[in-house]
Amino acid sequence: MTTETAATPASAVVSPVDERARLEAAVAELEQRPTSKFRSVFAPAATVERRAASLGFDDLFMRARLLRANVFVREGRSERGGRWAHEVLAWAQEHDHAFLLARVHRVLSIFYRQVGDLSEGLTHAVQSYSHLSEEEPPSVRARHLMTLAVALDEAGSIEEGARRFREALHLATAAHDAELALNILNNMAYTAFEKDDEVGARQLVTRMRDVLAVSGRNFSALELDTIARIEMMSGHYDAVEETLHVLLDDNQSKVEVHEGDAPAVCLLTLAEARRLDHRFDAAQEALDAAVRITEERGLDRVRAQAREEQSALYAATGRFELAYEEHRAFHKAATALHSAQREARARALQAVFEATEARRASEHFREMAHRDALTGLYNRRYVNERLPALLGDAVSRRAPISVAMIDLDHFKRVNDTLSHSTGDTVLQHIAQLLLEAASGPMIAARMGGEEFVLIMPGTDAVEAAARCERLRLRVRSHGWEPVTGSLAVTTSIGVTTSDDGRGSPSSLLSLADRNLYVAKREGRDRVVADA
Ligand code: GH3
Ligand code: MG
Ligand code: MG
Repeated sequence: MTTETAATPASAVVSPVDERARLEAAVAELEQRPTSKFRSVFAPAATVERRAASLGFDDLFMRARLLRANVFVREGRSERGGRWAHEVLAWAQEHDHAFLLARVHRVLSIFYRQVGDLSEGLTHAVQSYSHLSEEEPPSVRARHLMTLAVALDEAGSIEEGARRFREALHLATAAHDAELALNILNNMAYTAFEKDDEVGARQLVTRMRDVLAVSGRNFSALELDTIARIEMMSGHYDAVEETLHVLLDDNQSKVEVHEGDAPAVCLLTLAEARRLDHRFDAAQEALDAAVRITEERGLDRVRAQAREEQSALYAATGRFELAYEEHRAFHKAATALHSAQREARARALQAVFEATEARRASEHFREMAHRDALTGLYNRRYVNERLPALLGDAVSRRAPISVAMIDLDHFKRVNDTLSHSTGDTVLQHIAQLLLEAASGPMIAARMGGEEFVLIMPGTDAVEAAARCERLRLRVRSHGWEPVTGSLAVTTSIGVTTSDDGRGSPSSLLSLADRNLYVAKREGRDRVVADA
């Protein structure tokens, strides 16, 4: 260490700029982790979330929170995952944050497919892809296309889905993203299997093996299951055995397990293949292994499927009474599972609905609190809240801002000679004329009674006076005849300007008011600006 550096203060205070860059890099790294590592993001994302919250970096907070929502959704904890994702969606929409919009719609697409709403799943998948910027890397585009393809496929648009699968695969291959390419091929192969397209499915398995060979990876349990099912289509039971044997012995660590129930599912496939191959003892062995896993890990769905396979195995070996009992047990378990699933789905949708409604209601009331009931214009409260910020803007831009007070002349006469409700109608017409006059960033508001204000950010004194004069003429030449008969409606206007945003909101309003008073005193139906 040199003497110069030793002389600098030893404090390790990190500037907010550095801290932001550090957190941003951390969240970006978590976002880039492959799907197979999805659980690994949970704890670090929680740390980023807390840091971002305490420093007020809302966007980073939302990105971290979405990462955690994604873990919840993928683990099937849909209730919280769905609610959090909707909160992120609300923020992203409010801030027009395309990066987050693309990602949150993708998570929501998965969420809605999981809870069984396929059309909502498709809507979010489409949004997810359309919010993706051109600059996003190919592997990100490929992931979003794959989600869109799966959603299209499940919603019944098979051809459209197939086209997106092909595009996604092309991008993933070009990006040398082997895991993603395998994931896409696996989805395509499973789709072909479900459509009974054995030729297509086999071609896809060949491609999966090609990708695997160059990547130096191992198949995941789900990929192995797809391949085994395709082998079983035309009775290649040896090939099923060969495909799945890695799951049996000590080879298990060579298999990547993303989904918790995949090994048990594979063992069930193996049991089925062995039963069809009349190797009943071996089938029972695989089945017992599957049941052990489901009971250890509480995998109720696969446990029920195992009962169905057990029933078939009993029947195949002539033990029909046992087969019947096991079938009844399967049926009971499956029914219980369905109603539990339905309830879980209903709860998840309810939670999401309530969160969305609560936000809408608060927006609605916030908006209502800022509006005047008779005319729909902004009210005095809104002006009091908004004007300080508008002045602040003007100061930082060194731009002028003008404020006009507008008061109807002899309005009492309208009420007295016609009626109060005619007076109300006149006020509504005035509001309309003011809205027409308030272009761009201008704000028209009703301050109370027959008194209005027009705030004109960026408008200097000369232009403000000209606008007010046009407004005055517009009011007096309005077609009042059907409303007030022969009674004329005119206004007096006092206008003031701050050349650079300096001055307080209240001083600006009272200067405009003073000019208005002069306009009244000098005979009404006129505009008075600063002397
Ligand atoms: P000036 O030219 O000096 O402004 O005379 P003016 O009659 O317009 O002024 P003044 O302030 O004396 O009277 C305003 C009237 O506006 C009194 C009140 O009855 C009426 N007014 C206030 N609010 C409403 C409303 O919401 N509807 C109706 N119809 N009248 C209102
Ligand atoms: Mg008046
Ligand atoms: Mg008045």
